[in-house]
Amino acid sequence: MKKEYLNIICCPYCHGDLELEIREEDDDEIIEGEFFCKKCQKKYEIKEGIPILM
Ligand SMILES: [Zn+2]
Repeated sequence: MKKEYLNIICCPYCHGDLELEIREEDDDEIIEGEFFCKKCQKKYEIKEGIPILM
């Protein structure tokens, strides 16, 4: 997942802002990480470059 997409991604559940914790990255690509929604406390994984937003 490109880092530039971070600006347009929000929580699919409550549309709140997401906080990102990057575990593995490659230049402008996020390989592994986790989104955390400060509003509804949900967590979303990024696995093999794909954010699992559900
Ligand atoms: Zn949320």
